[in-house]
Amino acid sequence: MMENRGKSQINKNKTFVVLLAVVTVVFLTIYVVSDFLKVGYERKLLEEQTTSPPKVEYHTNIDWPAIENEEILKEISDYVESKRDDFLEKMKAKTTITPGEKYDFLAKYECKSVNDIESVHMLVSEYIGGANRNYYDRTYHYNKKTNKKINFSDFFEDEEGLKKLASLSYHYVSEFANKNEKQLNEEKLKAGTSAAAENFSNISLNEEGIEVLFVPGQVTEKTEDEIKVKIPYKELIGVFKKEYLNGVKKEENVQQKRDLKQFEGKKLIAFTFDDGPSSSHTNRLLNELDKYNARVTFFVVGSRVDKNKETLLKAYKQGNQIGNHSYSHKNLTKLSEKDLNKEIGETNKKIENVTGEKATLLRPPYGSFNDKVKKLSKMNIIMWNIDTLDWKYRDKEKIANNILKNASDGAIVLLHDLYDTSIDGALIAMKKLEKEGYAFVTIDEMCELKGVKMDFKKSYNSFK
Ligand code: ZN
Repeated sequence: MMENRGKSQINKNKTFVVLLAVVTVVFLTIYVVSDFLKVGYERKLLEEQTTSPPKVEYHTNIDWPAIENEEILKEISDYVESKRDDFLEKMKAKTTITPGEKYDFLAKYECKSVNDIESVHMLVSEYIGGANRNYYDRTYHYNKKTNKKINFSDFFEDEEGLKKLASLSYHYVSEFANKNEKQLNEEKLKAGTSAAAENFSNISLNEEGIEVLFVPGQVTEKTEDEIKVKIPYKELIGVFKKEYLNGVKKEENVQQKRDLKQFEGKKLIAFTFDDGPSSSHTNRLLNELDKYNARVTFFVVGSRVDKNKETLLKAYKQGNQIGNHSYSHKNLTKLSEKDLNKEIGETNKKIENVTGEKATLLRPPYGSFNDKVKKLSKMNIIMWNIDTLDWKYRDKEKIANNILKNASDGAIVLLHDLYDTSIDGALIAMKKLEKEGYAFVTIDEMCELKGVKMDFKKSYNSFK
């Protein structure tokens, strides 16, 4: 240009004008053509982007649970694999990728167990883009002892169970939301806790109750966290079968405890009944005890417990004490160590099964014991100082008189709840003794009132 300008300065002729025009035309042409080409290139790029699928990068990870139940493992793998296949389909169908999004499919597990019931919680989720993950959790249950799968419907006492669980869940989720100042969408809450099995695909059993898990989006917006509510077992009485209600059995077996202050300053006497339980005689006695504000001690024979469970439980709950009188009424001093342990151990197991409480008292059959019995049983041996010989006389007046004649503060009376005459004799004696200022207590109540701490190395005929 400088040269052209220089030339034009020296020689302004027509040739220069023509040349300038030609150069301008060439430059303009190049500019226009190159711009056209550039637009074409961009258009082609755009076309490429919309027609061939983008390369989607994703990540999958599955942790399989370490459990032994084949049936559940199969069910879990079918379920998780079908969810993973769905995810892969979604990845294949993806047409746009947002930079920064990391797509994945994850499955993990958590195992929990209470008593013999194991709950396997599969945490299954995927991220396929957008604001939130999708959750597909599911929980499986089986009995570890029998290795038997427990279906959701198996938990329920009857067909109404699911409806009751649904309404309990609605209540507990609402309460949880109130406490935690969470805003709930009423419609979502109703749908997510309605009586449909899939709403409860994540329940697990804990020590005190069941835990119901609602994944994000089930009863709340997807952006919210999952919600876990605990429903105590006592709320599930009549909804879940008893075998799944940990601890409830014991609650039902609560024993009445008496306020012992009422007996302070009174003469105390412990009536004890051996060889039962017997449904008719024991029950008749139980029905009369309140008349004399009396509680007694039963030394039961282990082999009789199963047949008379209800009677024994009634006796226990009423506040009577249950002790051990061996399994088959054998003379304990004549047994091998093994048989002795069995006679005592089996009976203790039977008693605890019914009452939920360990027996601490032993009355050896025939009153026969030695150091070996004490050492092996480690139970407090309770003898007697008033022997009514009720089994021999079978005469209510004779039995009553025998008690009345020998009654004293701290005495232990031996009777058997196998005979009508024994029950009647005891009741006649109680009626009279009550007027003489006696209170009728169990062995433990007696010890507590008298401040006695029993020692299994000793034995007790009375608490004078
Ligand atoms: Zn006996």
